[in-house]
Amino acid sequence: MIAVVGAGPVGLTLALRLAQFGVPVTVFEQSQRLRGEGSKALCMQRETLESWAMLGFGQQVADRGVAWQVGRTYFRETELFLTQLPATDEHFPPFVNVSQTEVERLMVEAVDREPLVTVHWGQSLTGLEQDADRVRLTCDCDSREVVTEAAYAVGADGARSSVRRLCGINFPGHSHRDQFLIADIRAQLPFPAERRFWFDPPWNPGRTVLIHPQPDDVWRIDWQVPPNFDLAAERDSGRLDERIRRIVGGSQYEPVWLTVYRFHQRMAARFRDRRVLLAGDAAHLMSPFGARGLNSGVADAMNLAWRLAFTLRSPESEDLLEGYAAERMLAARENLAVTDATMRFMVPATEAERRERDAILLASVDDPQMRAKVNSGRLATPTVYRPAGSALPVQTGAVLPDAPVQPVRGTSATRLRELVGTARLRLHLGCRPDGSAGDDCVQVVPPGGALPPGRHAVVRDVHGRVGERLQTGAAPVVLTVRPDAYVEAVAARSP
Ligand SMILES: Cc1cc2nc3c(=O)[nH]c(=O)nc-3n(C[C@H](O)[C@H](O)[C@H](O)COP(=O)(O)OP(=O)(O)OC[C@H]3O[C@@H](n4cnc5c(N)ncnc54)[C@H](O)[C@@H]3O)c2cc1C
Repeated sequence: MIAVVGAGPVGLTLALRLAQFGVPVTVFEQSQRLRGEGSKALCMQRETLESWAMLGFGQQVADRGVAWQVGRTYFRETELFLTQLPATDEHFPPFVNVSQTEVERLMVEAVDREPLVTVHWGQSLTGLEQDADRVRLTCDCDSREVVTEAAYAVGADGARSSVRRLCGINFPGHSHRDQFLIADIRAQLPFPAERRFWFDPPWNPGRTVLIHPQPDDVWRIDWQVPPNFDLAAERDSGRLDERIRRIVGGSQYEPVWLTVYRFHQRMAARFRDRRVLLAGDAAHLMSPFGARGLNSGVADAMNLAWRLAFTLRSPESEDLLEGYAAERMLAARENLAVTDATMRFMVPATEAERRERDAILLASVDDPQMRAKVNSGRLATPTVYRPAGSALPVQTGAVLPDAPVQPVRGTSATRLRELVGTARLRLHLGCRPDGSAGDDCVQVVPPGGALPPGRHAVVRDVHGRVGERLQTGAAPVVLTVRPDAYVEAVAARSP
């Protein structure tokens, strides 16, 4: 059994994915079920939707969410630039906006249907010990101590992770001075389904505002506010209403959720302590500009699930868990570097930096070259696990793209990503598994095992998109794809 501490989006993604490998999971969650409110993380990236599609509810999230492909950045009232996310025939859009709370609800429903996952709501982890074979977790349940043993434990218990603390893992980094006022408001507004970001708008001078659409006429507004901002005083004095009115004008609106949030940039010194692993906010915290928090937490869960499952089946493959720490620490460093650069531009730390930032913004109104220096957030993409300057093929370490395919034999999949399951996948492009020329062919390979003769599915790359997206050229190649959809190896194949 694997123990997961925390039934947030990362803990539940991990639990559901482990169950698909046949691994029983017990989740300990200190809160009572479905206690969430507000949008919190709301921009769900395509790869996150793909991951949840494997768990059975990605399509529901995508259908429910507001798809968007355009981001606009303004300085005062001038639009500086527009970021257009490429339109492709990949199944899911680059981003959909839907509240984390709604997604958590879908996850809890999925967990309720999954016999291999047990969630103990209202149980808070208070103790953790481990030896060579087991982890011993002590939880507080209505002032009663409950002790559980597990083969491995994962701390998906958020920013203030008890697992991290009990393992003595440091969480170095820094917190930002300015705070952010976050409001979800319901209003019928003539705003486009786009991400819109302002520097120094007349209605929040010297600071920033971000607006995002959500389903059901709900809008998410983030105002950068001073360190001493007091939400209660703002509300009681009527200044909150004035603030919202400067955006919605005379339209009727209803506040749905209000909070004040301080951003942090932190990363655990280690993601693994022998039989204990950290994932999601327990492992890394970053500002949300670029949507890297929740999306990277889900990527942690998908990376960790197959490694834990394979390690349980074959304990000598424990190196796989080191691979988790290495890859996801690389991803966290990348995400922290990107979000830190954004935050340094948005919230300059010194007066000199502020003057330089303001000069860039002013100059960028007339000088398109200066606009390249304006940083309103770089949107999340899946991390590539390939060292910079490496001689490995470009596909190695990258996530498998989606592309429409035509099922021919042994599968009903109509898109490439539907072929990823719980075993490694071997993708033969431009050749058959026996090496002869033929349809592009997909063969499922059991972990570490040889190819079972005759067991393969065939799909046709009808539109040529598979080869195009994988940049494999005309020569036949064989790609090995891991169960988290990352390309692990690429080999040339003689026709
Ligand atoms: C106000 C707010 C706004 C946000 N906005 C954005 C945004 O716009 N974009 C973005 O990407 N991210 C945003 N985030 C961050 C995003 O919500 C997190 O990245 C995401 O929730 C991380 O998921 P997680 O599962 O790792 O942790 P969490 O969601 O924090 O879940 C951890 C779970 O562990 C449980 N737990 C904690 N300690 C224990 C214990 N001792 N025993 C048992 N259970 C325990 C907690 O109750 C919780 O349910 C926001 C967060 C907040 C709070």
